[in-house]
Order: sequence, then structure tokens, then C-alpha cells
Amino acid sequence: MKHKLQKLAAEEGASAVITAIMLSFLLGMASLTIDIGMSYAEASAIQNVADAVALSLGQCLPVEDNAAAIAGVVALADEYAEKNGYTGLTAEDIVFGDLVEGRYRSLTINLSKTTPTYLAKIIGVEEITSRKSATVSAVPAGSLVGCVPVGISAHAYQTAIETGIKEHVVFKEGGGGGENGFFGYIVIDGSNGNARALLDTFKYGYDGEVCVGDIYPVAKGNKASVAKEGVNYRMSLCTHFPGDGGCNYLHYVEDCPRVMTFMIYDFMDFNTVRVKGFSAFVLEYSENEDEIQGSFIELNVAHTSYTSDIDGGIYTYRLTG
Ligand SMILES: [Zn+2]
Repeated sequence: MKHKLQKLAAEEGASAVITAIMLSFLLGMASLTIDIGMSYAEASAIQNVADAVALSLGQCLPVEDNAAAIAGVVALADEYAEKNGYTGLTAEDIVFGDLVEGRYRSLTINLSKTTPTYLAKIIGVEEITSRKSATVSAVPAGSLVGCVPVGISAHAYQTAIETGIKEHVVFKEGGGGGENGFFGYIVIDGSNGNARALLDTFKYGYDGEVCVGDIYPVAKGNKASVAKEGVNYRMSLCTHFPGDGGCNYLHYVEDCPRVMTFMIYDFMDFNTVRVKGFSAFVLEYSENEDEIQGSFIELNVAHTSYTSDIDGGIYTYRLTG
């Protein structure tokens, strides 16, 4: 009997130990689960900040590969991060990528946050670090407000770009022996496409949105002097760089009237075109009235509804990672 009691006591002691071990194990697991749950919430918050900062910086892309431009982006990133409740963002948290012709076309924001654990300390886990990143990339804009009723064919654009000459490019009105290619008048404003309507849209830019895939009629009839008058009007409105001849491709203000955005299109037939993308010129005075002369520039625009497969130098942005 005594023997049996001793054995029972020993078994109970053992099971108490086992129970204690099991309990602390379960408690440890439970506490870790709670802390991991909280760190997931933290990670999700960090991801939202990374996305928001990346999207806010999209308008800076492409970024010149020089210290001043990069410092400017870092300062903006820090400002946006703070607005989103994240402090302490540094230059090391931003990785610039896709360097093309001296300009970065993407950037990645890497954020991390270390939070002390509450319960998992019991099992020796003092803190949990969440790391999240977001990448934003410049992509060719596929919709634009402010276009002139002028465009060049995708083939003409490609040919012009392949020459490698981006400055003082001359496009002649379709048909003739253009120096660098041809342009055509396109009716984007729903008007009858006469010279007066074209000139108005040329001067002020179309206030509606032109999108990739849009189909428009080619303007018919006599359009003599529309380009000349339109270009002269836009040239005359520039008030920038007064001591230096105003805006030109070396120095310009993006919303200056001398900066003109136009369509790149494909002919569907002789009378109709389909928009493929967009490009931008800083206009220059030209000798002949059926010509448009300018230098290609790159522009960053706000978020647009569509993107384009043709890189005409006008960029919007999208989160790509
Ligand atoms: Zn200007």
C-alpha cells in the first residue's frame, strides 16, 4: 500500500511537471502568436506608408543622376514619410534604379520598424522587426490633357528618334519632303477641323483628355499658316529666362506655352488615326509656315488614366513592386 501511494505521488509529481512545461510552452506559443499578430498589423501599416511615399515620389521620375536631384528626392521622401507617421527615413532607405541616359526611371523605398514585444519576452523574443518596400517606376503616359491638334506617325517618330538627333528637329506638314519627318493635323476637339478651330486648339491646347486608343479624323482642307501662327503665338507668351531668349531645350519651364505636347499615332486609313502615345517639344521659331521646329524634351506628368507602349518622353508613374 505504501509502495502504491509513493508511486502515485511520483506520477502526480511528474504530471505536474509535464503540465507546467506544457502550460509554459502553450503560453509561450500564445504570446508569440499575439505578438506576431501585432507585428503583422505593424507590417501592413509600414507597407501602406511605403506605397504612399513611393506614389508621391512618382511625379519626380525620371530623376537626374546627380547629387542635388537625388538629395531633393530624399528630402521629399522624408517629408512624405513623416506626413504618413514614419520618422527617420534616410538616403539609404531609397534605392534608385533603371538608369537610362543619366536618369533613374524607378526608385524603391525600403522601410522597417522594430517594435518591442509584450508577451513573447517570456520566451526570450524581445522585439520584432517588420521590413517592407515599394517600387515606383516611370512609364510612358497614355492619356494627356493639353495636346495640340497635331501628331506624327509612330513610324516617323521612330525614324526621328533613331537618328539620335533630338534638338532642332523639323517636321513638315504631311506629304512634302520633310527634313526630319511629317506631321499631320488631327481633329481632337470635335470641331469641323477648319483652320480657325485648329489654330485655337493649337494656341491653347485641347482642354479635354486624349487617350491611347482614341480614334480621330485627319483634318481636311486648307490649313496654311496654322502651324506658323500657332507656334508664333506660343513663342510670344514665354516670360521665362528673359535675359536668355526665353525657354529653349537647355532651360525651360514645363508649363510654359513653348512646351508643346503632341500625339504619336498610327494611320487606320487615309482619313483616320489611332493614338499610340505622346511626345513633347520645346518649340523654336521656324522659317517656313508649314513646318514645326523644336527639340524633344522629357516631361513628368501627374498620374494618368492610361499608359502607353511607345516611349515618347512623357512619363507618368505606377507602383511596380
Ligand atoms: Zn517659357
